Amino acid sequence: MAARFSGVLQLTDLDDFIGPSQECIKPIKVEKQAGKAAAKIRIEADGSYFQIDQAAAPNEQKLVVVSVSPQSRASLAAKCKMGVLETAKKLTTFLKSLGVHYVFDTTFSRNFSLLESQREFVRRFRRQTEDRKALPMLASACPGWICYAEKTHGSFIIPYISTTKSPQQVMGSLVKGYFAEQQHLTPDQIYHVTVMPCYDKKLEASRPDFFNQQYQTRDVDCVITTGEVLKLLEQEGVSLSDVDPGPLDTMLSSAAEELSTHPGGGSGGYLEHIYRHAAKELFGIHVDAIEYKPLKNKDFQEVTLQRDGEVLLQFALAYGFRNIQNLVQKLKRGKSPYHYVEVMACPSGCLNGGGQIKLEGGSKDELQHVERLYESPKAEIPEENQAVAELYEHWLGGRDSEKAVGTLHTEYHPVEKANTSFNIKW
Ligand code: SF4
Repeated sequence: MAARFSGVLQLTDLDDFIGPSQECIKPIKVEKQAGKAAAKIRIEADGSYFQIDQAAAPNEQKLVVVSVSPQSRASLAAKCKMGVLETAKKLTTFLKSLGVHYVFDTTFSRNFSLLESQREFVRRFRRQTEDRKALPMLASACPGWICYAEKTHGSFIIPYISTTKSPQQVMGSLVKGYFAEQQHLTPDQIYHVTVMPCYDKKLEASRPDFFNQQYQTRDVDCVITTGEVLKLLEQEGVSLSDVDPGPLDTMLSSAAEELSTHPGGGSGGYLEHIYRHAAKELFGIHVDAIEYKPLKNKDFQEVTLQRDGEVLLQFALAYGFRNIQNLVQKLKRGKSPYHYVEVMACPSGCLNGGGQIKLEGGSKDELQHVERLYESPKAEIPEENQAVAELYEHWLGGRDSEKAVGTLHTEYHPVEKANTSFNIKW
């Protein structure tokens, strides 16, 4: 039945489902110019935005690094009918044939996002009596949600949002910081591209907060979506299944050379990681299995930790704007019972992002196939990753150092109601 309706109509459908790669968020209109890469974006009064200028493409002097998201890899694997490891190895070869020097995986940087979110939650929980906006902590990894929050609910909602950077932006800091140092380069001598499941990651990368004034460079210079990678393959006349697999790159020699994933769903597993950590840290409870209770629809679910009938922790995930709006209204009325909410703009989360490859038919079964692929690598626990521990200790100078906070956290800015289209700030 869904196929008879447009994506817009399906957004108001009962279960809020939209098929893989239907646009949850408006895409950027790009006037193509040969040999140039994405750069400036202009935002109009009606919220539409488009590219107005193009930065120079990486020249020969720059080291080119591509960081691929695990959601994009799973989408490509489903399209090419391959496993995710095979896809990662072949994609590495393909990108290197285009002149890319290193291909990394943002699962690595997500370890930092998860660890920082866990610790931030515990800090906020402990100060909830003196700071009434310490809780609920709201997830910060989805730029679709962040843009909406800044524009629509500004200073009311911002204090609730976790300050932890998203995996894309942590990767930006690692590549232009740690990796640049290792290569004896300045940040502007690296051209950093990410491959992401949505167009909104382009907006995230273009935020002034992620611009290095000293070196006049962005942490992420260019974002391409999964669908744009597929187009690139088609333009080059390459079928990924015919490409020879290449070895995977790692940023540190101590990092694992095989793929890994984080349990807890295709949007990064924030709820699960924070929940387990908080249960142990705050109440000494070890959580084995996490039981989700669906509420109004499958994109709004709750998880509750109880002891002797007392609710200790109440978490939720709220995906899609309909559920987000409900959540914000509850917060405004002081009726939200939650300590943490994993907020994501796309119904079904990041695996269903607007930049993912549209599969034939766009059915729920196909999305489930992408989910299975995404979950197929070995699950890793961020606390046990040696390379991450090493970077905290030797590069960031400890978990609570000023450098760690500056590198792994960000801030948000309310966008005042504009009188004209030129006043809108992102
Ligand atoms: Fe992007 Fe959608 Fe994921 Fe948000 S939920 S980060 S908009 S893919």
